[in-house]
Amino acid sequence: MHELRKDPLLGRWVAVLSDSKAPGEYSVPSEDIEELNCMLCSGREKETPPEITAIRREGTQPNTPGWWARVIPSFKPILQIEGDLGRRGVGMYDRMNSIGANEILIETPEHNKKPEDMGFEQMVRILTIYKNRIADLERDSRMRYIFIYKDSGKGAGAVYSHPHSQIVATPVIPKRVKEELDGTKQYYSYKERCIFCDMMREELRSGDRIIFETRNFVAFCPYAPTFPFEFWIMPKRHSCTFQDISRDEIDDLGLMLSSVIKNMRLILKEPPYNYVIHTAPNRIPRRNYWHTLGEDFHWHIEIIPRLARTSGLELGSGFYVLTTSPEDAAKYLREV
Ligand SMILES: [Zn+2]
Ligand SMILES: [Zn+2]
Ligand SMILES: [Zn+2]
Repeated sequence: MHELRKDPLLGRWVAVLSDSKAPGEYSVPSEDIEELNCMLCSGREKETPPEITAIRREGTQPNTPGWWARVIPSFKPILQIEGDLGRRGVGMYDRMNSIGANEILIETPEHNKKPEDMGFEQMVRILTIYKNRIADLERDSRMRYIFIYKDSGKGAGAVYSHPHSQIVATPVIPKRVKEELDGTKQYYSYKERCIFCDMMREELRSGDRIIFETRNFVAFCPYAPTFPFEFWIMPKRHSCTFQDISRDEIDDLGLMLSSVIKNMRLILKEPPYNYVIHTAPNRIPRRNYWHTLGEDFHWHIEIIPRLARTSGLELGSGFYVLTTSPEDAAKYLREV
């Protein structure tokens, strides 16, 4: 029989089908966006907005070749950094100006080189930039949240085929993050423990959904995920913010992230995918509301291969169907 499972964090129910699809049964059309004229490639630095930061070879100048990873403002930002929030009511509705930041992290100088194929050092450079950008952007008191995500492939919403991730600073806490924060806060209020620490302990105890474990991190398929082959990476050390990651942990995470992404690409035949970093919001503006945040929230990365389109069921009801069970997905990802 199929099974219904409740996500302990969001309280959402999902259906896990009893006859799991194998990775090869998903037919994801390979749909690389052909871009003959890519402005993210090395050599075209003068045509992009001036770089915000970069990790580059010694002696090379900003906005010239010689970089490994580079951050630029978005070509068409939705949010802009200048101005005030202008919060106000219009009748019964609330509105504000679109203040914030949209940045693109170009993950490799060469178009067809994926960062995970360049060795884990490249992933370490990317993670280091994530950390530094969050630390820089959160100093702006208008910003409530710094959201980092990656779109890979057109089917995952990517605008460029050149490997890149996006850094977005918003003056509001995004709804999906807010739901998690409320879930962790509620769990903490009656158990006085972090739900993610509990979850990780339980996963390590049972082992059924574990993909990979290192000294500092665990990769596993969650018990009631939203998508087949979705998996999470979580630090073993309890910490609510990504930017508290240590040098040693960045090295470890670089190694883990590059190997699990390679495994996923291999078994699912280069699927489009997204990953997102869920970290704590900027705490300064609402210190009272978030007073247990340091104890109750635990940063993590969610990785979602985009194997099927969502239907009216998911879109309209938030009830998701898992065509591969998390246990089987973990097994396939583990046994590559
Ligand atoms: Zn390119
Ligand atoms: Zn924790
Ligand atoms: Zn999350």
